[in-house]
Amino acid sequence: MPGELTKTPRTTLKRLPERGRHDFETIAAILDEGLVCHIGFAVDGQPYVVPTSYGRDGETIYIHGSSASRMLRSLKQDIPMCLTVTLIDGLVVARSVFHNSVNYRSVVVLGTATEVEGAEKEHGLFVVTEHMVRGHWDVARQPTAQELKATSVLKLPINEASAKVRTGGPKEDPADLPSALWAGVLPLVTVPQTPIANGDVPGGTRVPSYITRHRLTPDGARK
Ligand SMILES: Cc1cc2nc3c(=O)[nH]c(=O)nc-3n(C[C@H](O)[C@H](O)[C@H](O)COP(=O)(O)OP(=O)(O)OC[C@H]3O[C@@H](n4cnc5c(N)ncnc54)[C@H](O)[C@@H]3O)c2cc1C
Repeated sequence: MPGELTKTPRTTLKRLPERGRHDFETIAAILDEGLVCHIGFAVDGQPYVVPTSYGRDGETIYIHGSSASRMLRSLKQDIPMCLTVTLIDGLVVARSVFHNSVNYRSVVVLGTATEVEGAEKEHGLFVVTEHMVRGHWDVARQPTAQELKATSVLKLPINEASAKVRTGGPKEDPADLPSALWAGVLPLVTVPQTPIANGDVPGGTRVPSYITRHRLTPDGARK
């Protein structure tokens, strides 16, 4: 693990910088907990921000998708990109609308993606697949040559990145404190529900542990 990432002018937080983090451990933990990233890039002066899946292996983020997708075709052209992941931990409700907020953990990664081929392409697919459903890669059918051809895999190094974390209750103006209104935090979590088997799954088929224990860490803790 690289420890503290070098803070660049582009990754220096300006507003509320005390909420900023540049240690790799915090950045990696947020990336590992998220399921969706948003990728920002510009084509012909038009910015796009596109949600997509991803996975992390060490200091590398892998993304994948149809070789025909504009996002992947554009990112292969060595253009600058920005990848963000946001985890929402709670709604922060104040006595004034001005001080309403959100508890969150977020990451911004800046850089340029590179297409990977061969063994690293398959590894990238493994990383993205396992990020979604850990344990599925080993039991599911592996990609065919045609499926591999139709898929592009890109990697983005995590070397220019920042995290930002907000915790706690609302900041209130002292003048608002005598108000009779409730104020506080409504915690929010993403919780798996009862799995729904596909109609073509034979009755009595056991739900695999990689579904029932979805996104639990190897020692049983929720990610
Ligand atoms: C769920 C959520 C809700 C938010 N709501 C608001 C809102 O309503 N209004 C508002 O102004 N801000 C909001 N923010 C904060 C917002 O993301 C920016 O942090 C904020 O706009 C201040 O940016 P800045 O001018 O300091 O930095 P900028 O100049 O915009 O950014 C400089 C650098 O700081 C880092 N950085 C900035 N923000 C983040 C971040 N959130 N996570 C990781 N790195 C970051 C990046 O490396 C970026 O390149 C919200 C954030 C989240 C996650």
